[in-house]
Amino acid sequence: MMKLIPPRRKAKVHLAPKASTRQIVGAIGEQAMIQRLVCALQERGDVVVGPGDDCAVVRPAANARYDYLLKSDPVVEGVHFTRTTLDAAVGHKALGRVLSDIAAMGGEPLWALVNLVVPSAMPVARVMGVYAGLRKLARRWRVAIVGGDVTRGPRLEAHVFGVGRVPRGQAILRSGARLGDYLFVTGALGGSRRGKHLAFQPRLAEGRWLQGRGRATAMIDLSDGLATDLRHLIKQSRVGAELVLSKIPLAPAIRKSALRRTALRHAFCDGEDYELLFTVAPANAAALIRAWPEKFRTPCAYIGRITGHRDIIECVDARGQRTRMKAAGYEHFR
Ligand SMILES: [Mg+2]
Repeated sequence: MMKLIPPRRKAKVHLAPKASTRQIVGAIGEQAMIQRLVCALQERGDVVVGPGDDCAVVRPAANARYDYLLKSDPVVEGVHFTRTTLDAAVGHKALGRVLSDIAAMGGEPLWALVNLVVPSAMPVARVMGVYAGLRKLARRWRVAIVGGDVTRGPRLEAHVFGVGRVPRGQAILRSGARLGDYLFVTGALGGSRRGKHLAFQPRLAEGRWLQGRGRATAMIDLSDGLATDLRHLIKQSRVGAELVLSKIPLAPAIRKSALRRTALRHAFCDGEDYELLFTVAPANAAALIRAWPEKFRTPCAYIGRITGHRDIIECVDARGQRTRMKAAGYEHFR
């Protein structure tokens, strides 16, 4: 009689399904790509907020006066600026984006490191021009550029790593919005590609005030457009939002749009506004509206409320009609 020999057990091999090995970044998009990268990272007890907010928040010691805010961001020729962009504007934008994220946490910027990727054939004067833009903005906000590196590459890139601080435990997160909170936005939205995306001023003074006396409960800076960034805020706060369309402040560049709907689409989806979107408890909203014009020249507009309809953004038009906003906004890689 033949002995039955059990088949040798094969070692388990974890192979990703074929489809996903061929998947390209453009197909899954920026957010899904980031989600895959940040899962299963090493954790530490001094990290207050890890990936997923405008900055990381770290605490150097349990009784430290300040938490530190960490942020890095690249700007790349052909993606964030063109060959014909003024050199100083490239530097301004590279640092400005990082400062805008520090502003969105209510932070005070302190230090920056700058890495430049430069084609060998690029004139030295152009590289100096990029740095002139960086230096000017750094001086305005008393940010010390304390190092970095230069390496060669096929096209101009500037990577800025910034550090800021905020009183311990006081960083304004995306996750702090509560049912009933009022929604506000600084400045005007839309049409940024026509110039503002290179010349914006990070809303640092406004952000710090909102962190302190302004009593913001949640905050994010508008880099990808109101539609996308508001979605981030409500998702992390586990709430919904209601936007009053007539209250959305439209930038002059798009206000002349023949159709108001077209203008609103720009305001929701263009991205790179670098304004602050924030929430305030109803009890503090009136004080904010009163105090704001005395403190700042930047306008600030009430644009809606936080609702309990989780992950849903509703738009209320002039006739009081409600529509649900579809996911939209600037998406990198697409
Ligand atoms: Mg941001």
